[in-house]
Amino acid sequence: MKWSIQVGKFFGIPLKIHITFWLLLLFVALSSGKHEGLQGGIHGVIFVSLLFTCVVLHELGHSLVAQHLGITVRDIILLPIGGISQMERIPEEPMNELYISAIGPLVSLALALVFFILARLLGLNTAIPQVSLLDGNFLVGLFWINLILGIFNLLPAFPMDGGRVLRALLALHMEYLQATHIAVTIGQACAIFFFFYGLFFNFWLALIGIFIYMGAEGEEHDTILRRSLRRTPVGQAIITSFKELSPDDSLQDAMNIACHSLQMDFPVMRDGELVGILPKDRFLNAMKDSPSDTLIRSVMSTDFIMLSDTDPLAEAYARINEIKGGFVPVMHGDTLLGFINLEQIGKYHMLCGLGKK
Ligand code: ZN
Repeated sequence: MKWSIQVGKFFGIPLKIHITFWLLLLFVALSSGKHEGLQGGIHGVIFVSLLFTCVVLHELGHSLVAQHLGITVRDIILLPIGGISQMERIPEEPMNELYISAIGPLVSLALALVFFILARLLGLNTAIPQVSLLDGNFLVGLFWINLILGIFNLLPAFPMDGGRVLRALLALHMEYLQATHIAVTIGQACAIFFFFYGLFFNFWLALIGIFIYMGAEGEEHDTILRRSLRRTPVGQAIITSFKELSPDDSLQDAMNIACHSLQMDFPVMRDGELVGILPKDRFLNAMKDSPSDTLIRSVMSTDFIMLSDTDPLAEAYARINEIKGGFVPVMHGDTLLGFINLEQIGKYHMLCGLGKK
């Protein structure tokens, strides 16, 4: 995420703090300082820092379990609305998702218990009216906030932790996409309730409702796409209607094709054998830098990836992203069947029923 500053590394996982969080700290310092003086300002900042330390511990819970299960955690980012553990992939094995999701709220509840015991040992009144950002009674405040965080995150509001736990439990008994759909529906029902309840009683809750609603929708869409990409053989989604170039053609020949069709990516063939490729970016750069009678052999790329028509479309998607765009030729044995690029994957998804279960 842009505008995030790395402040440390825990168990190999970078901890980053988003610039808006620093602004929140500044806001707390100024607003509590205004009412309570310097001491109030310092108290406010310490309290918010302690609170977000608890949020980091919650996220570390998710991240460490994920790492243990073999999922790479890119980083943990702290935002004013909470923390995010960015994982390389969402676990689709139900038990793994269950463990990873459940641990966060459990950490929060465990922290609540610790603060409760400490507060009681010190003889503090742990009733909720005692909570204030400013009076320095941190323990009681941290007890309540961790308790609320733990319980709130356990609500089945997908894509929050509790919603993920629900999906995992459902996925143990039914098809993954169906489990996702039910969890998303329940999550969105919760989101609508949060929104309307929040409109009257708590503005933040209304805002969280909107985030949950959109997050649930986005994740359902991604889940369907990921699944379909994995299940569709790449040979089914390729571009089969195209013109090829020969190494002895010139840039002008490529230009003639590009000007009168939608084709900008070119396989280069000699005697029925694929000897190179000329992807769009490379073609456009060559047009800019070289005269139009330049031969294709001197601008084509001979170092390229090929896929077999039976490979999953997900593989093509990953490879194209790895090479940052371009296209991948798709073969059946030694025969070129066609090729695929990102636009084609998008088009196939939209028009040709990739999204259907
Ligand atoms: Zn969580």
